[in-house]
Amino acid sequence: MDEQRAGMSCYFPGCNEKGTTKEHIPPRSFFPVGERLQLLTVKSCKKHNNDKSTNDLYVLAQICMNASPSNRAREVFQERVAPQLSHNNDMLRRMLLKGAFKVRGGVAYPVDHARFDEFFTALSCGLIYKSQKAPLPSDYKVSHIYHRFISDADAERQALEAGIDRFYDGKPLDFMSFGNPDLRNERIYTVEIHGLPGFQGSITIVHKFFGVFKVTSMLTRFVSRKGGDPM
Ligand SMILES: [Zn+2]
Repeated sequence: MDEQRAGMSCYFPGCNEKGTTKEHIPPRSFFPVGERLQLLTVKSCKKHNNDKSTNDLYVLAQICMNASPSNRAREVFQERVAPQLSHNNDMLRRMLLKGAFKVRGGVAYPVDHARFDEFFTALSCGLIYKSQKAPLPSDYKVSHIYHRFISDADAERQALEAGIDRFYDGKPLDFMSFGNPDLRNERIYTVEIHGLPGFQGSITIVHKFFGVFKVTSMLTRFVSRKGGDPM
C-alpha cells in the first residue's frame, strides 16, 4: 500500500473506506472534561466510528465497576457513566443489567465478552496506527486477556497457554499515558506496546485502566513465514 493511500484510509485493518471522520483513541467519553486534550485521533470511516460508540460506555462502566475501589474509577463513573444510564430508553442500564444476579453483599453483572473484544480490538488497532504510522496488516489475529475478570490463577494459566511471555522483549516499543494523575498518582489509562517495529512479528499491548484493570492484547501474524509454506 502506498503511503498516500494509507494516510487517507480508515485506521481499521482491512478496511478500504475513506477516513472521513476522526476517531478518538482512547474514547473521549472515558475522560472528565478538561482532560481530553491529551487524546489522539485516527482517521476512521463512518462505519468504524459509529460501530464503537455504543460499546464505549458499556466498556467504561464495566471497567469502573471492576476497578473499584480505585479512586478515579468512582469519579469517572459518576461523571461519565451515571448521567448516561437512562438515555435512549435506559439502553445502557439495560445492557449492564442483562443477566445480572444477586450475590452475597450485592449484585453481579456478567460481562459481555464480545463487546469487550470489539472494543479492545478497535483500541489496539488505533494505537498501532498511531504508533507505527500505518494500519495493522489484516493478516494479524487479535485476541485479548482480561486479567481482572477471572481469578489470578486462571489468568496466569491462560497467559502461559498463549505463550504471552515470549512476546515481551523487556523494553516497550511505545508507551502512552492519558488522564491527569490525581493525588494517588492514578492515571485513567496507560498503555505499553511491545514488539518489533515494522510489523515483523507478534505484538503485545498491555493496557491498564486506573492502574489496576489490566488487559493484554496479543496481535499475532499468522501468515508471516518468509520462506513460504511447506508443501
Ligand atoms: Zn473503516
